[in-house]
Amino acid sequence: MSTNRFRILVVEDALDIQRLLRSAFESEEFEVQEAGTLAQALTRAATFHPDLIVLDLGLPDGDGLSFIDQFRAWSPAPILILSARMNEADKINALDRGADDYLSKPFGLGELLARVRVQLRRGSKLETGSNPNLDFGDVVIDFVQRSVTKAGVSVNITPTEYRLLIALTRSPGKMLTQSALMREVWGPQFKDSTHYLRIYIGHLRRKLENDPSQPRHFITETGVGYRFLK
Ligand code: CA
Repeated sequence: MSTNRFRILVVEDALDIQRLLRSAFESEEFEVQEAGTLAQALTRAATFHPDLIVLDLGLPDGDGLSFIDQFRAWSPAPILILSARMNEADKINALDRGADDYLSKPFGLGELLARVRVQLRRGSKLETGSNPNLDFGDVVIDFVQRSVTKAGVSVNITPTEYRLLIALTRSPGKMLTQSALMREVWGPQFKDSTHYLRIYIGHLRRKLENDPSQPRHFITETGVGYRFLK
């Protein structure tokens, strides 16, 4: 059996969802293990070395959020939260504690698999080393020259726009909270001035999206933050 298949750990106590995810992931040729409790999740994570974790927050022996804290101490593998909790504060809390993405139950299997693929691509890219260029659509960012072109034409980007662009594009597919972006781009004293963020996201869309009113790369996660998609 091939050893370079992606390994996915499903932390979920609902057996019907476990079964659904196992068959979906196996059809993608992923290797799957399950954990139904928080305690099991930590031991499985340590022995199975997953490339990605799908994490339910409501577990019989505790809150999935405490798994994030412990797992993040020794692994950067992406964590995709799958939860019935719809509360924006919960989402923000999970992302700020180190989760990478969030999908609410009930979820579509196609959407889940797409999100998983984005996270796995991101993970394997980190290992292949850094590339001085990033391209998406017809946009190319040259990190060495600190320049941006769209369809081969140079785009005028201000220093603040560039910092925001870097913060977003560093982690394609990762959901970034407004306060995390504000802290990184403007500094900690501005973390609540999220109207700046809306304005600058608008600038990036206007300069880099083909249709700024239907953004495909700079996606709003209402009430939570933003996500960059390649
Ligand atoms: Ca549950």
